[in-house]
Amino acid sequence: MALDGKILARSLDSYRAGLQRRTRETERLRQTIYSKQPRVEQIDRLLSETVAAAVAAAVSGGGDPREEIEKLRDENLALQAERAELIAELGYPYDCIDDKPFCEECSDHGFIGKKPCSCLMEIYREEQRKELSSLLDLSGENFGSFRLDYYDDTPAEGGGVSPRRHMKMVYTACLRYAESFSPDGENLFFSGGTGLGKTFLSSCIAGAVSEKGYSVVYETAIELISSFERARFDKGEDAEEGEENVRRYLGCDLLIIDDLGTELSTSFAAGALYDVINSRLRSRKNTVISSNLGIDEIRRRYSPQIASRLEGEYENLRFYGRDIRLIKRGL
Ligand SMILES: [Zn+2]
Repeated sequence: MALDGKILARSLDSYRAGLQRRTRETERLRQTIYSKQPRVEQIDRLLSETVAAAVAAAVSGGGDPREEIEKLRDENLALQAERAELIAELGYPYDCIDDKPFCEECSDHGFIGKKPCSCLMEIYREEQRKELSSLLDLSGENFGSFRLDYYDDTPAEGGGVSPRRHMKMVYTACLRYAESFSPDGENLFFSGGTGLGKTFLSSCIAGAVSEKGYSVVYETAIELISSFERARFDKGEDAEEGEENVRRYLGCDLLIIDDLGTELSTSFAAGALYDVINSRLRSRKNTVISSNLGIDEIRRRYSPQIASRLEGEYENLRFYGRDIRLIKRGL
């Protein structure tokens, strides 16, 4: 699983801010409890003194410190029991103001070794969802809200299947792809006219895969090419931003390129696109591409190499039917 550097940095900021906020809340609660029951504050002071005394006894070196330490331990336990009771009497959980990590798995480091802890991953998924939601309608566009009834059920001329039956197959392939997603180099190519649900199903896949904790980057072809251009031709911050985006395109677990063919047709664009497709194939990272163009048009517009990659290494799914946006408007 490859984490997205940009999202991870944001997640860590929010993770640390969350820790600080919760530490402040605990401190406020501590003061409230102290003011309601001053004996708790007194006990806390005594407890820290017994700990210091035990340490002093252990390192004193004179005589046998065991007896002294045992006595201190008994005092300590009695104080703890009294404290727990007093706090519970006030109606709070007995350990609510204890100095303990919020996450016991990672002691609030966010990582266990190099592996991000589940407490950090929870925030990561949230941040990624926010990022994707700025581009896609994740709450409205999910597998549960996909409407097959927008597709005509009349069989195609010459006895072919109806758009609805065909789209049911496309939908099922996308659902299977998202549900069994693993970074194994499985790719999809959506082709078909505007308003047939390509972005909708991309969005469903993006939401479901990111929910599993994989890094997902969604980008339109126009934006994707523009990042490559900035990385290549700009200077300073613009170039850095472009470079960071390119790193994300190459490194994420799932890259979704939407609207291929709407960007300006240049040899630079064709080269950049080939780089992304090829580099992701080589590192067996998954990609979903959608386009109004068919494979033959891709071959003419870009290059035979790109067309052959999409033909040979991508599952090709054709979108049929009438423009759903027109159907929704009753046209
Ligand atoms: Zn943790």
